[in-house]
Amino acid sequence: MKPAPRTALIFGISGQDGAYLAKLLLDQGYAVHGTSRDVDGSAFTSLRVLGILDQVRLHSAAMAEFRSVAQVVQTVQPSEIFNLAAQSSVGLSFQQPVETIDSIMHGTINILEAIRFLGLETRFYNASSSECFGNTDTPADERTPFHPRSPYAVGKAASFWAVANYREAYRLFACSGLLFNHESPLRPTRYVTQKIVRGAADIAQRKTDRLTLGALDLTRDWGWAPDYVDAMARMLKHDQPEDFVIATGMPVRLQDFVEAAFRCFGLDWTKHVESNQAFMRPSDISLSVGNPAKAERLLGWTATVKMPTLVEKLVEAELIRRRMSANL
Ligand code: NDP
Repeated sequence: MKPAPRTALIFGISGQDGAYLAKLLLDQGYAVHGTSRDVDGSAFTSLRVLGILDQVRLHSAAMAEFRSVAQVVQTVQPSEIFNLAAQSSVGLSFQQPVETIDSIMHGTINILEAIRFLGLETRFYNASSSECFGNTDTPADERTPFHPRSPYAVGKAASFWAVANYREAYRLFACSGLLFNHESPLRPTRYVTQKIVRGAADIAQRKTDRLTLGALDLTRDWGWAPDYVDAMARMLKHDQPEDFVIATGMPVRLQDFVEAAFRCFGLDWTKHVESNQAFMRPSDISLSVGNPAKAERLLGWTATVKMPTLVEKLVEAELIRRRMSANL
């Protein structure tokens, strides 16, 4: 007889990471369930793009309501839970601080409480963020102190400590991933990498001549989203619950990302890109880079895609997307 498949529950399955993680876990033989705030109202475009919409079981869940979260957990009885649901835009968090912090904190605490209340052995992954660190003078690792510089980061830092507290107080198998930025064609356009790639493609196709961005003198550590969901899955297969920094370890200036994207289209970025004060945040991180040594050592994880391959893959996907929509 075949053993029963392991069951995973992904809160926030409709997003970039939710879709890639669902695909990975299905490939590993899991039964995959996922939540959205409103299953009937969501298009689940990312799950459709990856061709897995009909392979996952979907549930509506309101992250701020314990009853709603606990009911899904009780119904699914998952062996693993991944909490990815959140208002995830740093920029938007300055305009919607309460919604952002509520979405992060309530969701995390309600899942932790549900696991505890129902007495489950479920392993729990929580999506924390490199934003907790603020500026990183040296590459941040698991011992680097937090200095959040946005409402989003404040929420992610608080949820990180909630996970650590439940792990220590109630011995839950609960861990946080401190993930640095990771990109893919599934990223919405409000994120700067997609804004740049799509802006450069529009200029190459003569739909516009200008691309306006905020601060250009930022440095980030950008990785490839499918690599990063693999790290999440590995954390829950590790023999003990621990927190991990997931990063490429490679600092890249935003200006260099822009230059590389425009070069893919044969364009000189300096002729098209402008920086506008109105797009800048009240406080921002100028340098953000991580040290993934612990994940490499204990999880056997490494980033397989770094710059400039990352930007080339994003451009290639954008060209395919445009060709397909032109042929519709
Ligand atoms: P997405 O924004 O693509 O997906 C997040 C999901 O959360 C959405 O699909 C949405 O599902 C749900 N959601 C959105 N707003 C709210 C809200 N106000 N309350 C409750 N749920 C909400 O994020 P990613 O997939 O890129 O990231 C996954 C997680 O990892 C997020 O928590 C993010 O903050 C974190 N993270 C991401 C990084 C990255 O570079 N991508 C880096 C570090 C951390 P629906 O609309 O169906 O309800």
